[in-house]
Amino acid sequence: MATAYRVRALALRKTKLGESDLIVTLLAADGCQIRAVAKGARKTKSRFGARLEPFSVADLMLSPGRSLEIITEAETVTSHNALRSDYDRLRAASVIADFLDKVSVECQTESRLFELATTTLDVIEIAEISDLRALVVAFLVKGMAMQGYRPQLAACACCASATDPGDVRFSLAAGGVVCPACAGADTSVVPVAADVPVAIDALMRARLADVAALTIPEALVSDTFRLVRTFVTYHLPARMKALEAYAREG
Ligand SMILES: [Zn+2]
Repeated sequence: MATAYRVRALALRKTKLGESDLIVTLLAADGCQIRAVAKGARKTKSRFGARLEPFSVADLMLSPGRSLEIITEAETVTSHNALRSDYDRLRAASVIADFLDKVSVECQTESRLFELATTTLDVIEIAEISDLRALVVAFLVKGMAMQGYRPQLAACACCASATDPGDVRFSLAAGGVVCPACAGADTSVVPVAADVPVAIDALMRARLADVAALTIPEALVSDTFRLVRTFVTYHLPARMKALEAYAREG
């Protein structure tokens, strides 16, 4: 019989199972996705309480099951309560959790993903509401880079020649700005304002805690969000419902 093991994990999603159980989708500290059953978690007197709510970080004891792991113990590390009690924070955090749910894979290690995720949620929990959208964009850009889609912003993503600041085009397929010659035959090219790649680059380089200090104007954050969202949707096959909702509600 396989032995129980301990793991620190971020809860991304919960779904009901049977009368009183939950299936919790988790991002483990090593970046692997784990799906685990919390037995009796929906009973009022459950020993798990709120410790497996989405966005909470917990130290878990897991027992390998036949198809899903079984959670036998859960101890809160960070509850991130404010992410569930404030609507704007909830919407922003939902984009993060949905993205992680879709990109993380069982037994596929990516240790930077957990660090990025928990840092982003820590910052979203205390940030000014007006800074939330820039934080979501920063997370998406960094998260996409970890998936192998780091946007090319300095020179043409196809031929490396200099781009024209007065006529900036972004190729979704090439994953960056492209020169007019390369843009010609590329059907995935979208025109963007010249300051959008500059903003993406700044968000890419900034630590999450320093994103607010960039003071990117709201209209530019919106334009940048629109492009990054299109970029994410273009490359990732899964449908990101939370991201769509976030875009819709503005
Ligand atoms: Zn080119």
